[in-house]
Amino acid sequence: MKTLKIAIQKSGRLNEKSVELLKNCGLSFDNYKSSLISPVSNFPLEILFLRDDDIPEYVQDGIADLGIVGENVINETEVDVAYLQMLGFGKCSLKLAIPNNGKITKLEDLNGKAIATSYPVILEKFLANNKITADIRTISGSVEISPGLGLSDAICDLVSTGGTLKSNGLIPFGDVMHSQAVLIGRKGEEENPLIVELMQRVQSVLRAKETKYVVLNIERKNLEAIKSLLDGIKSPTVVPLADEGWVAVHTVIAEKDFWSKISQLKAVGAQGIVVMPIEKIIL
Ligand code: ATP
Ligand code: MG
Repeated sequence: MKTLKIAIQKSGRLNEKSVELLKNCGLSFDNYKSSLISPVSNFPLEILFLRDDDIPEYVQDGIADLGIVGENVINETEVDVAYLQMLGFGKCSLKLAIPNNGKITKLEDLNGKAIATSYPVILEKFLANNKITADIRTISGSVEISPGLGLSDAICDLVSTGGTLKSNGLIPFGDVMHSQAVLIGRKGEEENPLIVELMQRVQSVLRAKETKYVVLNIERKNLEAIKSLLDGIKSPTVVPLADEGWVAVHTVIAEKDFWSKISQLKAVGAQGIVVMPIEKIIL
């Protein structure tokens, strides 16, 4: 069977998490900063390390079969690729931001203004949808300093915490798009058995990340109350303890409602609660 190629970012914000995801999928490869291509020793896969800007087109054109890249880059390059899996990292927003001087107060005030961005395609569509006509100035980096230099009246840039905007005297003014890293593939290739196998591994890693393994002790008479609180993979595993009146319950709990579930469990008499990370969940 043909060896697959997956393109990931060589260095930058998505590199570390992309490498970690692939390693957690049980793929064994060297991650030297100098190499542009690295074979996986235990799966028919090669990893290409690229600038993120090039990844969508490499996948669309079939040079790589798969890629990990931010949705913002996919939209900007206007490629036609299949979204195989949202990955939940690299979260950020493409935002409009304006100087903190009160001159611009509503979206319409951007009419006739200059907006600096590295995302001209996305911004142009956004402005057209909002019936704004502005002068888009495309710059490749350090967009946030352009209003201070008199190059633009506003900017449209990626923001995660907003710290960079603030330190440049800018305030967020509206969301253009939300983005996260996504695993992409070529359209029509989704049934390739190697891609299916890899997808199963990726999904088992993501599922495990969203859940914790919990073991707790409870008096047998309170077991029913606890069962109604738990929605584990199937029903919880119940193991008798040496003390006849007590059982140990093993289950999984979703990370997102972990703390509220733990207090509910304690309220119905759970004791000695042990929480463990899960490596993989294979359904
Ligand atoms: P490359 O050298 O590969 O072209 P880059 O400088 O274009 O890298 P990075 O800054 O490493 O890109 O960002 C990669 C991706 O990380 C972005 O396209 C975006 O999807 C995501 N990201 C998450 N948070 C942020 C943020 N605060 N600022 C910029 N990008 C972010
Ligand atoms: Mg880039």
